[in-house]
Amino acid sequence: MSEPRHLLSRLRTLRAHGSAPLSALVRLVASELVSEVCSVYVQRPGDILELTATEGLRPDAIGQTRLRVGEGIVGLCAATGSVMNLPDAQNHPAFAYRPETGEEPFASLLSVPVRRSGRTLGVLVVQNRTPRNFTEAEVDDLETVAMLVAEMLSGSGAIDGSPEGLAATVPRLFAGASLMAGIAVGPIVLLRSTGPVVRLLAEDPRAEQVRLEQAVDRMQRGLDDLFAEVPNTGRAADVSASREVLEAYRLVASDAGWLRRVGDVIRGGTTAEAAVQRVATELHDRMRRISDPYLRERLADMEDLANRLLTALTGEAPRKTVPDGAILLARRLGPAELLDWHARGIAGVAIEEASPSGHAAILARALGIPAIGSLRGILDSAEQGDHAVVDADDGQFILRPETAVREAYIRAREARSAKYAELATWRDRPAVTADGIELKLMLNVGLSLELPQLARTGADGIGLFRTEIAMLARGSVADVAEQAAIYARVLDEAGDKPVLFRTLDLGADKLLPGTVVEEENPAMGWRSLRVGLDRPALLRRQLRALLLAAGGRHLSVMFPMVATVTEFRAAKGLLQAEAKRVRPAPETLRIGTMLEVPSLMWQLPELVKEADFISIGSNDLLQFLFAADRGTPSLYDRYDFLSQPMLDLVEQLVAAAGAASVPVSVCGEVASRPLEALVLAALGVTTLSMPASGILPIKAMFAQVDLRSFRSVLAAIRRGGGFGLRESIATWAREQAIVN
Ligand code: PEP
Ligand code: MG
Repeated sequence: MSEPRHLLSRLRTLRAHGSAPLSALVRLVASELVSEVCSVYVQRPGDILELTATEGLRPDAIGQTRLRVGEGIVGLCAATGSVMNLPDAQNHPAFAYRPETGEEPFASLLSVPVRRSGRTLGVLVVQNRTPRNFTEAEVDDLETVAMLVAEMLSGSGAIDGSPEGLAATVPRLFAGASLMAGIAVGPIVLLRSTGPVVRLLAEDPRAEQVRLEQAVDRMQRGLDDLFAEVPNTGRAADVSASREVLEAYRLVASDAGWLRRVGDVIRGGTTAEAAVQRVATELHDRMRRISDPYLRERLADMEDLANRLLTALTGEAPRKTVPDGAILLARRLGPAELLDWHARGIAGVAIEEASPSGHAAILARALGIPAIGSLRGILDSAEQGDHAVVDADDGQFILRPETAVREAYIRAREARSAKYAELATWRDRPAVTADGIELKLMLNVGLSLELPQLARTGADGIGLFRTEIAMLARGSVADVAEQAAIYARVLDEAGDKPVLFRTLDLGADKLLPGTVVEEENPAMGWRSLRVGLDRPALLRRQLRALLLAAGGRHLSVMFPMVATVTEFRAAKGLLQAEAKRVRPAPETLRIGTMLEVPSLMWQLPELVKEADFISIGSNDLLQFLFAADRGTPSLYDRYDFLSQPMLDLVEQLVAAAGAASVPVSVCGEVASRPLEALVLAALGVTTLSMPASGILPIKAMFAQVDLRSFRSVLAAIRRGGGFGLRESIATWAREQAIVN
């Protein structure tokens, strides 16, 4: 291939002659990149990709060859947003043969998505007769050309506008995930991505680098001012949560890695703006492929920073206030951006791509803004000024609600604030059923910013401290001293309340940056305690840190993903050995296991002799019991915790552990769901550990339950056998007015 600068300068010349047609562009790219074929497929309504320009394929295929998004290699490239670099494309399983193109002679293929503002506009492809892998430099060049194609397509109107068209006055309901409970009703403010970069190619990379550095400086100063505005008053938890998220953000802002990447792109001949936008697109693509929520957050922070940097490069717009009760709609939203909008007075937020554990969600909770995420397509459906309802209690977003619906929500919003005040009164009361059975409701946490939730919810302790989360947030496993400081802070904050630390549960979807997983089934692969036992130095360091943090206090440690008693003994042995070396020794040392792998159920007689306590990790246990990946959304509702196999399992466990006086708790998500919590308590599991949002509602629910009566009801329902346990239990609970 030719020198990249040469290609770019030819493209520059081409553009300088007015609106260069795509046909001229594909001709130029084919000749410069020494490829026999260069084609552009443009995305049409209905998720169709149409061959719109080609050099090298049969010209009469233009406008004829059409593929669905997801179909063929081109469709796959558009669907996944990934580069496809194939030496032998025709033997790729996704290859879709289109005889009219005459593409039989071409073996190798490189395709890159054409994207703008997070939207796929089409696909750019080059093909060669010789089977070969395209080099990294070649991929880079084609990606730069794809940026130019994106600008040409959006500038020429070659792509169609809003698919909504005339439907823009009809109410629409979207289901999403609640990020911060609450209701907001008001006019919409649309946060569209930064406008198109006008100038793509630059003559003088050095001048662009200087512009970049100046803009970085301006952006950093702007952040300092913005963070200074974070409220210092209000609930301690709010202040602490927002501070911590923003500190993490600041670390990302000063991270040299991504700025260096921008510099590299500038050296390839683009303007600073185009380079930043290119890096932002790359980050977005990486985000789409990463499932770990914490890593996604770090990338989202970088993406947010890239947008701020673009604004710093193009000149800042003054801050404007928003209409009363305004609801912000965004494709994605970083923590600094949310702060900006909070200062302008928004009352609710709806985000297309955001998860409950994300930074935007944490900050929304800290600022008390009702927020909802995972709302596909809202941005393309809404117009500036449309009215909407954010119903984050039920995870719904209603666009253009009927007046009656809107008024009902306004009433619900008022009733809700009264109910919230009432729920808060449960904080200082013990968790006890109507017939006097005491329960322990504990918290699941993983970052120190969540610790204030202990006081806020009145939880009885921390039933699961996920130690790997802090390591994922910092990007690597901390050394002994730093780990000890983290754990000591947890114990300090918990005071007299118990804390159960879980050792590192890395692997599967919780991967540190740079980890390459080549397993077919990582959830069942080399993860969690398996890594700890194979790399005992790593596990020992963590155990030492925990012992140091305890510094003579009580210490409870549990191991995740234990599949055999032998593994548990080995891990326990490491901890006991370490405990002999660390002074002062903990006042008590309790060593327990998670029950996440069903095989432990057939080792109970031995297990209960070894373990001081057992905690059921229902998230993994469900996935392994039913062989159903917990990360696959379509399987989400298919297998139920309230089913005979699961209830039999819990009952047998409680009986075996009870006979040996080994306490059993549950620390999966099910503990925060009313019906599941009720059933668990009826089966004898009276310690439930859950996310903070569950504590007060579950406490209030138990106060209304006569647990002894429910035990007989449950026994009768289970004797009835069959499926549908949930429905029978729910009916009883509704009749008793325990749930709605
Ligand atoms: C579980 O599996 O239920 C659990 C609590 O662990 P995690 O969700 O962290 O895998
Ligand atoms: Mg687990």
